This record gives sequence, structure tokens and C-alpha cells, in this order.
Amino acid sequence: MAKIFCVANQKGGVGKTTTAVNLAAGLAQLNQRVLLVDLDPQGNATMGAGINKAELQSSIYEVLLGMADVATARVRSETGKFDVLPANRELAGAEVEMVELDNREKRLKDALGVVDAEYDFMLIDCPPALSMLTLNGLCAAHGVIIPMQCEYYALEGLSDLVNTIKKVHAKLNTDLKIIGLLRVMFDPRMTLSQQVSSQLEQHFGDKVFKTIIPRNVRLAEAPSYGMPGINFDPSSKGAQAYLAFGAEMVERIKTI
Ligand code: ATP
Ligand code: MG
Repeated sequence: MAKIFCVANQKGGVGKTTTAVNLAAGLAQLNQRVLLVDLDPQGNATMGAGINKAELQSSIYEVLLGMADVATARVRSETGKFDVLPANRELAGAEVEMVELDNREKRLKDALGVVDAEYDFMLIDCPPALSMLTLNGLCAAHGVIIPMQCEYYALEGLSDLVNTIKKVHAKLNTDLKIIGLLRVMFDPRMTLSQQVSSQLEQHFGDKVFKTIIPRNVRLAEAPSYGMPGINFDPSSKGAQAYLAFGAEMVERIKTI
């Protein structure tokens, strides 16, 4: 059975997509079979995996509306060595069109169920909103990975996300847990980063992943080459950190 995780945080630009793409590539390097699910109309995870979002035959949009299945819509990331259920801006329309459908928050869960046996991991890259799309991600997943920047406003909004996860757990998906908080774009030279980082450890204890992802320009450059940072520059600090995070994830899920 595949382990399914959402990478979620309703704040924009906090490193969700970078985390989803590089964790997918990191797990693939550990010989895990991975499906990366792009649940964001921006299609950044799709592009970051080296797939042209403008040239998709079908996408997650058709899958959510029941017009295609995952096996038809998925594409291979040749650079990252994992499969991608791709997205583009069409997906924005799904939010509205799903309103009329039964069980609309469970459309993704049902669709992924069909290919479950083919993967060890499915990683869902969520959009920066607590929307119907994110709700579909949370209903499909066993757990949530929350990337966070260690800055003053980082904790603001975290309670909304945690409350949403609690509600989904209570009403829609009893499997759902917070797997952990991942500190990303970390700058050790900033005192504030250090302070927020230790606050996170105090509040959330072992829910904070040990691996810390540094701010590293190679991770930011990689998407323009259609490659995960891990494959683009394997020796960079960012790539090394995401590889370590992949190994930490494999260890952590043994305990849940
Ligand atoms: P959105 O909310 O728009 O979906 P996101 O949370 O998915 O954004 P990303 O797209 O992963 O965030 O990252 C935002 C920007 O920061 C991107 O330009 C990305 O390349 C850059 N970035 C992410 N992580 C790092 C890092 N560790 N070091 C340097 N730059 C990074
Ligand atoms: Mg994103």
C-alpha cells in the first residue's frame, strides 16, 4: 500500500513545491516508486519535474472530474525518475465544477486508489489556500508535511492549518496526521531564524523534522532546467539536505 502525503501550507511561496519535487526525487533515488501529484493550477511541480504543462494530453483536472483515470493522465519525469500526475491552469476550473458532484472532497482519494499498488509513495503538492483542492489532498492522504520558513510570521496561519487538519481528521479522514514540520530556506547567519527554529522545537517537539533545508540558490535555479535540485546539482547543500530528508521520511514512516 502506498503512503500518501500532502505537502501543505496555505501561505504562498514557503517551499511546498520545492519540497514535493525534491522529496519525490530523493525517494526515487532510494529506489522507492513515487507518484508526484500536482494539485496546484500554477503547475509548478509539473514544470519542476521537467514536464511541459502547456502540452498535456490530460491532467489532474480531467481525473478529478472523472473524464480520465490516473493511469492515462500520468507522465514520467525522466529527470527525476518518478511519475507525475500533472496540472495546469485548467485545474482552477475544477474547484467550481466539482461543486455539483457527489463526494466532491473525495474525488482525488478515489482516483489514486486505482494505482495504489503501483507506488510506495504518493506526494501531493497543494496550492497556497485551504480550498476544495487542498481538502481533496487532505482527504486522500495519510499525513501532512508542512514546510515552514523560520521567520517572524511563520507561526501565524499555522493554527488555521492545524485546525483544518483536525477537522478533516474528525469528519472526513481518520487516517490523517501531521507527519512533521520541515524548516526550509534556513539561513543560519540570521539570529531570528535560530530563534524561530528553537521556538518550533519547543512547541512541536519531535513533530519537527531533524533535517533542515538551507537557503540554497541551486534549488531555486533547478526548475528553470526542468530538473529537481537533487538531480540538477547533486553535490549542492540543498540537494544533500533533501536527500537526507528523504532518508528521514523513510525512517519516520516506519514508526507511524
Ligand atoms: P506557492 O505557494 O506559490 O505554491 P511554494 O510554497 O510551492 O509556493 P516554492 O515554489 O517551492 O514555494 O518556493 C518559492 C520560491 O522560493 C521559488 O522561487 C523557489 O525556487 C525558492 N526556494 C524554495 N526553497 C528554496 C531554498 N531552500 N533555497 C532557495 N530558494 C528556495
Ligand atoms: Mg507551489
